[in-house]
Amino acid sequence: MRKSQIAYPALGDYLAAPRDKTIRIHSSSGTTGRPSFVAITRHDREVWNEMASRAYYATGLRPHNTVIFALSIGFFVGELPSSAAVETIGATLVPIGTGASEPILASMENLKADYMACTPSYANYLTEYIRERTGKDPSQFSIRGIHCGAEPGGGIPSVRQKIEKDWGARLCEAMGNADMAPLIWGECEVQEGMHFCGQEFIIPEIIDPETGERKELEDGVTGELIYTAIDRESSALLRFRTRDHVIAWTSRCSCGRTSMRICCIGRTDDMLIVLGVNLFPSAVRDVVSGFAPRTTGEIRVLLDQPGPLAQPPLKVVVEAAEPENDGNLKRELEEAIRAKLIVPAKVIMVPPGVMPRSEMKTQLLVKLYEGKPEWLQSGGLDG
Ligand SMILES: [Zn+2]
Repeated sequence: MRKSQIAYPALGDYLAAPRDKTIRIHSSSGTTGRPSFVAITRHDREVWNEMASRAYYATGLRPHNTVIFALSIGFFVGELPSSAAVETIGATLVPIGTGASEPILASMENLKADYMACTPSYANYLTEYIRERTGKDPSQFSIRGIHCGAEPGGGIPSVRQKIEKDWGARLCEAMGNADMAPLIWGECEVQEGMHFCGQEFIIPEIIDPETGERKELEDGVTGELIYTAIDRESSALLRFRTRDHVIAWTSRCSCGRTSMRICCIGRTDDMLIVLGVNLFPSAVRDVVSGFAPRTTGEIRVLLDQPGPLAQPPLKVVVEAAEPENDGNLKRELEEAIRAKLIVPAKVIMVPPGVMPRSEMKTQLLVKLYEGKPEWLQSGGLDG
């Protein structure tokens, strides 16, 4: 798709609707620094909104709720369908976005907002903020339902239990895919997987990621999730591979819904998710390469725990071109990564020639949880 968008600017040769029917174009950060574009028509918007509304309803949202919307606004492909879903259900939307903790506190105190949509990592960040700022636990405020999306984590039992305890609220997850639809799955109050919400719009399948073979949909089946759009005007993707590894259940849920349920258990590639933004380590390398000749262009991204979820700030090791500390370079790099990739980063500068070179494809991720590599033992230029 990316190659096609370059060869046939800007929306690729797979654009299936006349260009003048396009009403919105989202972009997502790419592997090469060039964003990838996702177009929708008026009809596609209605389809997206319908699926998002079903997903929000499944996570427990009802007309009497007041919702703090604390997912990133604008860039995040899911924002518009999510806010439309809240209003379609008839609940009250309080749009705030990320990075504005004070207005969230004010909305809880003054509006008694009782529902919040956010990423799991932002919920944890807010917990610390609220404790420091007020000396109280979030559970002493008004939020009783949390809708987590845009990154996995909400489905991991330890993460879920911590957030639910801190906030005195029930956490339900939702999931979609930037290229297919921002919200396709929503978890019900039973909390045993996210229900499929795209019945007449999308055909989901599960395949063996190695062989590509289709697996029978039955309780406990695992594999890579793929989607076929059957009611999409702009880009009717067929058997689109998500790289999401899921476990699925097909038996009837005790909530009464009969739709298939899934839980996302990992990713097949290097993609990271930082504060809800999809990020490939190669995109970080592209930003750093722009600083040549002050850097060698060699980078590594450090991971404290298995991906794809990376805790902000993203830790990036960068090789300087000179053995001495180059004054502002560290800060300039941090600012450039933040500006171009929309994620906070902590840059660690190391002297030139420190990182091992490879003829093969360089592994840009350093999995610290598997052990610290030799070259990293000596520490950075600034100690
Ligand atoms: Zn259910």
